[in-house]
Amino acid sequence: MECPDRCAEPANSLTLEEAQARIRECVPPLSDVEDVPLKQARGRVLAESLTAPFDLPPFPNSAMDGYALHHAGISNHADASLTVIGTSFAGKPYDGVPGPRECVRIFTGAAIPTGADTVIMQEDVIRETDNIRLAKTVTALANVRPAGDEIRRGECLLEQGKVLQAADLGVLASAGFAKATVTRRLRVAFFSTGDELRPVEEPLDFGQIHDSNRYLLHGLLDDPAIAALDRGVVPDDAAAVKQALLDASQQADVIISTGGVSVGDADFVTSALAELGRVEFWKVAVKPGKPFAFGRIGPAWFFGLPGNPVAVMVTFRLLVRPALLRMIGAQARPPLRLRAICRSQLKKAPGRMEFQRGQFEADGEGGFTVIGLAGQGSHQLLGMSRANCLIVLGAGNAGVKPGDSVEIEPFLEFFQLTSL
Ligand code: AMP
Ligand code: MG
Repeated sequence: MECPDRCAEPANSLTLEEAQARIRECVPPLSDVEDVPLKQARGRVLAESLTAPFDLPPFPNSAMDGYALHHAGISNHADASLTVIGTSFAGKPYDGVPGPRECVRIFTGAAIPTGADTVIMQEDVIRETDNIRLAKTVTALANVRPAGDEIRRGECLLEQGKVLQAADLGVLASAGFAKATVTRRLRVAFFSTGDELRPVEEPLDFGQIHDSNRYLLHGLLDDPAIAALDRGVVPDDAAAVKQALLDASQQADVIISTGGVSVGDADFVTSALAELGRVEFWKVAVKPGKPFAFGRIGPAWFFGLPGNPVAVMVTFRLLVRPALLRMIGAQARPPLRLRAICRSQLKKAPGRMEFQRGQFEADGEGGFTVIGLAGQGSHQLLGMSRANCLIVLGAGNAGVKPGDSVEIEPFLEFFQLTSL
């Protein structure tokens, strides 16, 4: 799919919203799908809407252990005595038809016998050998789960784009789907650039650091919907960067690099992108993360992230993650934002929108408080490790005093272990 013309406009610094919109306009959803067995479907994106093939539950059944009876057949509840004519177990229905003054012993999940419409709980009867006496009045239709009370045949069971979670696998199984048709895995190649980088297994010489970006990207991309391809470390060399981009563009739908995207003498990424493909934009007015290149090389979409690890994580969350979700066809909501009272002072110069690392907690009265963590430098990854939210400060914000209200984006991990 070709990108709309306006993607080709020369761009200086875009606002975050402009950059997000531009990426959304450019990247198309994948059209390839595959069938996967249910047990392999968690975290995959449902590629078609599914309707219920039959009512759920499929037959009226008992919500309690008790006795099934026909309510209209009991005249006087106080001293009604009914004959127990059989038993309906879950999976072993009773196939007789109880008449007036008759009932059927029944257990939770067992089919309600024809002719019965009500279940009285076993605690509410007095059992006398083959009879029961009702110790309480019973309401008509009580303790019966009617067929289709959850969903009717033909109604929408799950919508296209649903990222399948544990509950969805159960829902699919209950409706008899042994497989799910999902978007194929998105192939994402990633590499680090920088002459100073050493793999974690190798000792450091003076002036060198370990490559942390590739490991945190591995963590961010470790997701069932993604096939991540680690392409290693690429030196600060124009030819090497070009070759790495070219190779990755032949293997992947998406390429992510870190570092070398600025305008220093050792920054070759943007120029390599311009030579091999097309720079859609470069520079986004967010902190951390200002140098950020987006473009394409052949069929692959390219995200050139900054080198500093916090900037990698923040730009991944703000700009890459929404694009990946769009490509895999996932229903995606914007990240949840909450208001919190800031208990610490936050330094911020007006100009760029800023995402600071924070720790929030409930204040016990239905609201939230947050503190900014020490070490807000974009090289200080420990702040990200200790944070449970980002504090979102608008471009015009000129600093925060204790007691001010701020917006936060909590890191949610209730269902998804990874952040995608
Ligand atoms: P650059 O954008 O290449 O100028 O890098 C900016 C900063 O990020 C420099 O301090 C780099 O050493 C650092 N950096 C770049 N890549 C990585 C990496 N993979 N892991 C850790 N730090 C990095
Ligand atoms: Mg570098």
